[in-house]
Amino acid sequence: MAVVGQRHARHIIMPPPNLPPHSQHAILTAAVAVPYYQVVPPQDVQPDRPIGYGAFGVVWSVTDPRDGKRVALKKMPCVFQNLVSCKRVYRELKMLCHFKHDNVLSALDILQPPNIDFFQEVYVLTELMQSDLHKIIVSPQPLTSDHVKVFLYQILRGKSPPTMSKVLHRDIKPGNLLVNSNCVLKICDFGLARIEEPDECIHMTQEVVTQYYRAPEILMGAKHYGSGVDIWSVGCIFAELLGRRILFQAQSPIQQLELITDLLGTPSVDDMRTACDGARAHLRRQPHKPPSLAALYTLSSQATHEAVHLLCRMLVFNPKKRITAADALAHPYLDEGRLRYHSCMCKCCLNTNSSGRQYTSDFEPVCHQPFSYTFEEGLTSVRVVKEKLHKFILEQQQGNSVPLCLNPNSISYKSFASSQVAQPSELPPSPHAWD
Ligand SMILES: [Zn+2]
Repeated sequence: MAVVGQRHARHIIMPPPNLPPHSQHAILTAAVAVPYYQVVPPQDVQPDRPIGYGAFGVVWSVTDPRDGKRVALKKMPCVFQNLVSCKRVYRELKMLCHFKHDNVLSALDILQPPNIDFFQEVYVLTELMQSDLHKIIVSPQPLTSDHVKVFLYQILRGKSPPTMSKVLHRDIKPGNLLVNSNCVLKICDFGLARIEEPDECIHMTQEVVTQYYRAPEILMGAKHYGSGVDIWSVGCIFAELLGRRILFQAQSPIQQLELITDLLGTPSVDDMRTACDGARAHLRRQPHKPPSLAALYTLSSQATHEAVHLLCRMLVFNPKKRITAADALAHPYLDEGRLRYHSCMCKCCLNTNSSGRQYTSDFEPVCHQPFSYTFEEGLTSVRVVKEKLHKFILEQQQGNSVPLCLNPNSISYKSFASSQVAQPSELPPSPHAWD
């Protein structure tokens, strides 16, 4: 099952023998002078190095000096440039600290912030994942139907109610689905996430979701949408896992909608209920298209009846008729993925000496504390967010015997400090202005 293991091994770089002791070249160090504290030597010999650059942060692979384990260090630079960016970071940190789910990335620690007057950047430690679904899909490594099933199972498990069903991720794409060498998958990057909005009168932004994975209701200018937008993205990724290519790879939002209607056919008037007038008029001007869902069988030899049946339930134009994460998990296509995951990959079932594998009573666990957005009330200025964020980070560190900070004397510090986030041109295109 190992997909990323061998590839990862090629990137191990041995440091030259005359390097200073580890404590001097590691980026992370203890933030306080603790007499009994000793730096634990790293469990492997990899130097700190960059592993990913997203729209909202830079990620490095580093060693935690407290236990010698490799972890991911995410730098969120220029947090307090404007109210939108600092609220996004605050929300993402809150979510990273709130979620405790095997298929959702969570924060292990946050680096100790400086005095609030010098507080400009936020650094979060998370578990280190060796790869992501995008890298795996475009790699030459074989993807068996077992892989597809166990990946899809974990994506839906991470999205399933009540853990995440009320939280709209809004940017689920292969690059945001991290995978480790055991094929364990974790959903990450909650920078765009928000809670499901029960009031249909409240307008929500359409500036979400990388275009290829954008649900038709968002493409058609719906002012309100629900967790169906994430299921649509998961459906696109399911097809991409089967076919090893992006399902709807269009150059513009209009063409994106065209590719979708080529496959699903022209939607009915009822299925376009939430669309804006301009988008509805655009589709009405187009010649009527019949559905061509049988094309999904040509994705690959793994596109069996069961696979295509589930895929067709996810790729439904009308979000109200689209399958939910919970119902998708109950689909027979995922039975093997569930079995494989809980036989050898999960943390919830245990091997015992006497009676073999002891399975959990609840394969898709319940989150008892729903995520609440009340913390966003009153965040009216950058200064207020800065103070609350500073306080929140200090609160998170209570109970940590040794808080961490950056080591400016380390050999990697300069390149870490200068690493930047994506340029605006690399960000997803804006939604189409219909009117
Ligand atoms: Zn389990």
